Amino acid sequence: MKKLRLILGDQLNHDHSWFDKKSDTTLYIIAEMRQETDYVRHHIQKVVAFFLSMRNFAHYLKNNGHQVQYYKISDSNNTIELTALLSNLIEKEKITRFEYQLPDEYRLDVQLKDFCKTLKIESQSYDTEHFYTSRTELTAFFKGKKSLLMESFYREMRKKHNILTVGDLPLGGKWNFDHQNRNKYKEEVPIPFPLQFETDVSEIVKEIEEQNISTMGTINAKNFEWPTNRKQSLEVLNYFCEHLLEHFGTYQDALYTGHKYLFHSRISFAMNSKMIGPKEVIDTVINYFHANQETIELSQVEGFVRQILGWREYVRGIYWKEMPEYKSKNTLENTGKLPDYFWTGKTKMKCLQHALSQSLDTAYAHHIQRLMVIGNFTLLTQIHPNQVDAWYLGVYIDAIEWVELPNTRGMSQYADGGIMATKPYVSSGSYINKMSNYCSGCHYNVKEKLTDNACPFNSLYWHFLDEKKEHFTNNHRMAMMMSLLKKMEPSELAATKEKAISLMENIENL
Ligand SMILES: Cc1cc2nc3c(=O)[nH]c(=O)nc-3n(C[C@H](O)[C@H](O)[C@H](O)COP(=O)(O)OP(=O)(O)OC[C@H]3O[C@@H](n4cnc5c(N)ncnc54)[C@H](O)[C@@H]3O)c2cc1C
Ligand code: SF4
Repeated sequence: MKKLRLILGDQLNHDHSWFDKKSDTTLYIIAEMRQETDYVRHHIQKVVAFFLSMRNFAHYLKNNGHQVQYYKISDSNNTIELTALLSNLIEKEKITRFEYQLPDEYRLDVQLKDFCKTLKIESQSYDTEHFYTSRTELTAFFKGKKSLLMESFYREMRKKHNILTVGDLPLGGKWNFDHQNRNKYKEEVPIPFPLQFETDVSEIVKEIEEQNISTMGTINAKNFEWPTNRKQSLEVLNYFCEHLLEHFGTYQDALYTGHKYLFHSRISFAMNSKMIGPKEVIDTVINYFHANQETIELSQVEGFVRQILGWREYVRGIYWKEMPEYKSKNTLENTGKLPDYFWTGKTKMKCLQHALSQSLDTAYAHHIQRLMVIGNFTLLTQIHPNQVDAWYLGVYIDAIEWVELPNTRGMSQYADGGIMATKPYVSSGSYINKMSNYCSGCHYNVKEKLTDNACPFNSLYWHFLDEKKEHFTNNHRMAMMMSLLKKMEPSELAATKEKAISLMENIENL
């Protein structure tokens, strides 16, 4: 019997039980596919990071005695569609059994299921052995419950996996230290220099360019800073524990022009490609905390654990619960078009200019930049969620649909009508001013609403609430804002709406 085992680009799990045994009759296939580079326009750094990590993983397997067939994007015997490549190899190598790990993306899941139905040989799928939860665990947990609150799912995960617990109770007496984690960064403590790998990726960039793959953003090919192998992924984790964890929670929501990464871990790419696992990340952080309790507070650690054990597993569960309908939800019926500065960063709004330029330069923005600056703007200007999704899915190094879609369409754009978020994440300029140092250097004035140089967020915010008010009438979390809207003088509301409409009509010039 000769077995073919498929490893997708985001399945680079060194610890998978597939690799416990070596076999001359098992052939692994890893392939850089045109269908993956072309289904959305990706950031150049994202394509490079995936291809290089895949190549490194193939080397690792070969060095450990496994048989690997690797296809580069430029290989003449590569194909556009994955299934055509698999069919060719099955025929050429006289394969008698096909195996694959369950894809995290719905699109690939359907493609591989359909492919297996066409095969005359046996086939089987396997778990990726990466997540804490199965695809269906969240659906089972919330069965019969009215709301899909992340917090209740997170507490269940803490208890189930004995993480920061004493018996069934939370360590430190509280499940959630979120209220301690919302500080503005005022340079009280220095931000450590970010760990960067300075890998020379010129060759791979040249290959991508020669294939005419359409990408966005920029790259410094001589100094590529993202981790692309297991060793570097572990370095990112250790660097986080030693230098960033101490203040992670405190400044988790801070926005600051002086530094791109603040105290964020930048571990999402290493995790989403599965070079490192969530259990490994959480165990390492908690062990570090126990060994360094004089410097690391529980609130910092809990804040980090919540992101991975809570949010990351939660969005995956929502994705598998709600797909495929989720991908076309547009509850607020938004129809706008993204302005060009989403691909250039050239806007007079300092907050957006900083978050967009950083995204285009590094393929990275932290969650408050994604949620309260960029996502806030696209929701207030009523951009179609398809456009917003495509941009987010392309631009970020860690963007894979299972995690991008619920965060963007659900959490950020409220296009799912409140499945993910209990209220839309929108704000006027005052929130951005409270959490950042953006406004002091901005062309616009955050205190103004109607003047020529008034902060655009201020009128857009009230116009959005007024336009979409029928969606929020029964939402108690919106009650206070709705009551303020009602109390607004009709003449003031009319002027505010007129201003917002004119801004939306001139969105390219903001
Ligand atoms: C609109 C929007 C789109 C997003 N798109 C993505 C995406 O495509 N891919 C992605 O991995 N994350 C996404 N996130 C979540 C979050 O912004 C990133 O995980 C985080 O910024 C990655 O940087 P980091 O590793 O430094 O994270 P840290 O701030 O250091 O957090 C640690 C880890 O927690 C996990 N995490 C934190 N928040 C979330 C979340 N909301 N959902 C899932 N995991 C989370 C990530 O794995 C992250 O690496 C999105 C958030 C928003 C608001
Ligand atoms: S004034 Fe308004 S547009 Fe300018 S940085 Fe502040 S919030 Fe952004």
